[in-house]
Amino acid sequence: MNQVRTRFPPSPTGFLHIGGARTALFNWLFTRHHGGKFILRIEDTDVTRSTEEAVNAIIDSMQWLGLNWDEGPFLQSKRLAIYQEHVEKLLSRGKAYRCFCAPEELEEKRKRALQEKKKPKYDGKCRNLSSPYPDGPYAVRFKGPEEGRTVVEDLVKGRIVFENEELDDLIIQRSDGMPTYNFAVVVDDGTMGITHVIRGDDHVNNTPRQILLFRALGYPLPHFAHVPMILGSDRTRLSKRHGAESVMAYKEMGYLPGGLLNYLVRLGWSFGDQEIFSIGEMIEKFSLENVGKSAGIFNPEKLRSINGDHVKVREASKLVPLVLPFIKAKGYDIVEGEKLNKIVDILKGRSKTLVEMADQAEFFFKEEIEYDEEAAKKFLRPEAIDVFEELIEGLKGMEIMSEAEVESLLRGVAERREIKLVKVAQPVRVALTGFTASPGLFEVIDILGKAQTIKRLEEASAFIRSSVARPGGENED
Ligand code: GLU
Repeated sequence: MNQVRTRFPPSPTGFLHIGGARTALFNWLFTRHHGGKFILRIEDTDVTRSTEEAVNAIIDSMQWLGLNWDEGPFLQSKRLAIYQEHVEKLLSRGKAYRCFCAPEELEEKRKRALQEKKKPKYDGKCRNLSSPYPDGPYAVRFKGPEEGRTVVEDLVKGRIVFENEELDDLIIQRSDGMPTYNFAVVVDDGTMGITHVIRGDDHVNNTPRQILLFRALGYPLPHFAHVPMILGSDRTRLSKRHGAESVMAYKEMGYLPGGLLNYLVRLGWSFGDQEIFSIGEMIEKFSLENVGKSAGIFNPEKLRSINGDHVKVREASKLVPLVLPFIKAKGYDIVEGEKLNKIVDILKGRSKTLVEMADQAEFFFKEEIEYDEEAAKKFLRPEAIDVFEELIEGLKGMEIMSEAEVESLLRGVAERREIKLVKVAQPVRVALTGFTASPGLFEVIDILGKAQTIKRLEEASAFIRSSVARPGGENED
């Protein structure tokens, strides 16, 4: 195979969404697998709908995902002279013609065809005009073949045959001088030497038109691979309604790029029954042969769970800088260091996202623990005061606090009372974290440190005393 050259050409009319990200990913994986070049192109010729903000959002999203490109970003709006040159080439070769039909006239004919239950199609009124041309604005149309067939040998869908008479003489340049999508895309793919066009199958019907344009312009045909769309759970086009957001919203929700990409690669591609892939494995194993023929159904829960698998296996030191902004956003002025490393290490197996991790880490940084109401009712009872006091004494007597020593201290307290460890552990857990569920208690104490643990146990004792003293206090029974 010649060097593979692919492209991702989003239209900057909004943020990069899940579907676009998957298209970009497939192109990127295919290119990296074959050691080729991946090109980023921005299709911004629709000036009314394109915005600079969207261009930046697309670039930010690609960068966050780590889908690096080798050439570009090329903006179509900066390439107008190139399209013009190609329009003139087709005009001079008699493969395109000027069309002076007014938009209202075309619209009138379109409506009439629909009323007569015919497929609307340009009637070729200007197809054989020659100079002198009428005055007034004109569009340029491609002079397509009136008979024969155009065959798409799709790498995913197989052979698709189109009757040329079904294909309109499409407009390649509007009367304002702007190229249309089908034309600009072929000029770009042709001049950029694209070898593989991998895109959503909503573009299948454009492909025969593009093939005809490639031939008319004399550019070699790329291979086409049309990937089935991603649908929502009700099998309609994916939208916000299905919980699908822009790529950057997933960043804000605390997803890892690797988790999101892993989920996306499996929506439409498979490798046996393997679910979890590192980026390296995706590159190594990706092939167009294993792209499925049916639509992928977006499942936010599955995405969360796959992300959780990625969080779990990531080294704590790599997660620390990623989770830090989420913790800071909660108003805690903390810094990277051993403590945060340990916190992340004990939380990474319990958090599906960085947001969850930051939530679960919060009790470590709180000045004052708020007790969950149910948990306090059940475990912060007068008999716990005694346990807390014994623990405080024990902790004070420790020269250097370690997880092992903390464990034997707690076990000793339980043994002396002839009660199970959990009977000691639960009140302590509520005192230290506010909740009945938390990571391992010995680790929690080790991370909190002696002074903070003692402070929280003392505060919990004070809380119990004040609840008992309160008339109707919950601990009166
Ligand atoms: N701008 C088009 C889109 O976003 C690109 C289609 C193509 O890949 O040719 O759908």
